[in-house]
Amino acid sequence: MKQKKQSFVNYRLKSAELITVDMVRVAVENDHPIDRNCWSMINSKGECPLKDVTVNDQIVLLRLPKPFKFEEDSYIVYKGLTCYIEPTEVVRTKEFEQLFFYDGDDLGVCYNENQTSLAVWAPTATRMNVICYKTWHDEKGDTYPCRRDEKGVWRIELVGNYEGVWYLFEVYVNQTWRRVVDPYAKFLGVNGEKAMIGDPKRTEPEVWPVLRPQESANDCIIYELHIRDYTISLDNGINHKGKYLGLTEQGTVDNDMRVTGMDYLSYLGITHVELLPVQDYGSVDESNRETDYNWGYDTTHFFVPEGSYATDPYDGYCRNLEFKQLVAALHDRQIRVIMDVVFNHLYIWEESALDMLVPGYFFRYTTDNKISDGTGVGNDFASERKMARKIIIDAISYWVEEYHIDGFRFDLMGILDIETMKQVKEAAKKKNKDILLFGEGWDLPTAYPREKRAIIDQAKSLVGIGFFQDKFRDGLKGSTFEVTQPGFVSGSKQGLNEIISGMQGSMNKFDMPIQAINYVESHDNHTLWDKLKLVHPIERQFTLQKRHKLATAIVLMSQGVPFIHAGQEWFRTKHGVENSYNSPDWINVYNWKQRAHFDSSVQYIRTLIQMRRMHAGFRLESYEMIRNHFKVIKAESKCIAYHLRGLEKVDEWNDILVIHNAGLKEEIIFLPKDKKWQVFVDGDIASLIPLYKIGEDCARVSALSTFICVSL
Ligand code: CA
Repeated sequence: MKQKKQSFVNYRLKSAELITVDMVRVAVENDHPIDRNCWSMINSKGECPLKDVTVNDQIVLLRLPKPFKFEEDSYIVYKGLTCYIEPTEVVRTKEFEQLFFYDGDDLGVCYNENQTSLAVWAPTATRMNVICYKTWHDEKGDTYPCRRDEKGVWRIELVGNYEGVWYLFEVYVNQTWRRVVDPYAKFLGVNGEKAMIGDPKRTEPEVWPVLRPQESANDCIIYELHIRDYTISLDNGINHKGKYLGLTEQGTVDNDMRVTGMDYLSYLGITHVELLPVQDYGSVDESNRETDYNWGYDTTHFFVPEGSYATDPYDGYCRNLEFKQLVAALHDRQIRVIMDVVFNHLYIWEESALDMLVPGYFFRYTTDNKISDGTGVGNDFASERKMARKIIIDAISYWVEEYHIDGFRFDLMGILDIETMKQVKEAAKKKNKDILLFGEGWDLPTAYPREKRAIIDQAKSLVGIGFFQDKFRDGLKGSTFEVTQPGFVSGSKQGLNEIISGMQGSMNKFDMPIQAINYVESHDNHTLWDKLKLVHPIERQFTLQKRHKLATAIVLMSQGVPFIHAGQEWFRTKHGVENSYNSPDWINVYNWKQRAHFDSSVQYIRTLIQMRRMHAGFRLESYEMIRNHFKVIKAESKCIAYHLRGLEKVDEWNDILVIHNAGLKEEIIFLPKDKKWQVFVDGDIASLIPLYKIGEDCARVSALSTFICVSL
């Protein structure tokens, strides 16, 4: 009697974790040696003694005679004490993937007028309900138990017409009930608090305009904008400010009757608009949208558009319909739409539906079982796990099919794994052969082998997927992080080789030029204007503008794919704010007054855009062609000149000479003598018809400018 009482007091089972499909690790708190012969496991089938017991200090490893039964709660029993077995590390094992990988296409809701089927993947859950709410404010709802089907998928069929009914899953896992939003939800209410059963047909635009085929694979000029920034100013003539619909309005003008909004995108002549995140994100309160601002790099729902850009975020259909209207409106202008997608992490991982449904599965862990944080924002999505990979591929396929999206920019793509990106490409190409895929291939310290990640150094394993050319960028404007460091346009020769390589489409890094995403400014870091102000704090504005235009001209005239940040064409400033992800509108706004004030710069950039689109010599399709036709004729610290020659087969301009002079003095370049040259770009002027003929044997290139002449 006395002894029994002692064991009860002195022994405590702190935890019992399932670490592989047949191994439980128990942590014991005790003062006495642990007895190997008193262990067993209990579940609904009864008690089963455990003989294979390893004791190491206060850790006990118990091998199970049969694989663990995930479908029910099981307990370890030791000398009258019991402890629930929590599946932890097991979810990250190969055996778990083999047991539970589900490749069906019916996760989420399958709706028709007579019946709605729901399916959710949660193999470690032991019970699951769906709760249906007839109205948004119904707090209790009606609870229906789901049945466990193969591969850890829970299902239910609801007979009748459930259109417009709100729902949550209620999952019982690790002895706790939690209510979660369906990770495959396609319709959401305000702030994504509940999902809705809906009919996708109700969100179709009147027509889906037909896009003309692209002239060539890299006939792309990407223009990056944020829905709110671009439409929010008071003087842009746009009615739906800060909304998807703001980008569907035609005929909008500023106070000087200059076109704005969607018409301006057509006017500028870009081919692709890249939208900062429009997947539903968590950092803006959709019920109070006037005060919050965020770029939105904090995805909460992979398959649904963000609600704060909808006219009515409470209406389950509104955001879907209005975002489709935006895509359709841009397609009507033959402008393609790229989504900036954030799969590398989730907003608050502990509160994410995915982690509540399958704790520990969807995120990466370090070898000592801490959550990996290579992204620097608290968690890294474990894209290499099969169901995590599947949700990425399913989401991409869905956006292409349902929303007619033309391309994706993968935020921190270097966190994702190569195999996932390959499968994304395969799935997306099946639905749209012209799909444009690219991303940030930064090498970040995430808990996954470097050689298996979609970083820029592995680009050869990712044929057809583009990478932002950060070295080209920094070569042109100076280090992004050492903010006062100068680049080529400030007279530095430090990055000369990177710049020449960049102008040739970075051919040593990739298999095709479309993989080289050339840029000098994006939403991240200082705008080019703010950076140049830091490098040249006392320089005259006039000179800074020349440097700025030179940098943009180099990007636009280089081989590969040019990428422009909205407002770069008129020296956009964010008033020195380096990371404006949650800055107020007055920092982030697309300022149409400045656009008007710097109209001559806009004209210059617009003409270069048109010139690039009219002349295939600036966007050769293969590295073989670049090798054959691109000849560097001068590469000095302050001047780079190259000759695009023998272009008869691809361009009516057979011979093009491009000279970028980053010096403060005129540069003289001697021309091949046997030809007559006509000038199209000189100083501050760019033209699609010749400005003048060169009467001598040399080109005189004015300071801080691009010069383009053509032998016809
Ligand atoms: Ca949201």
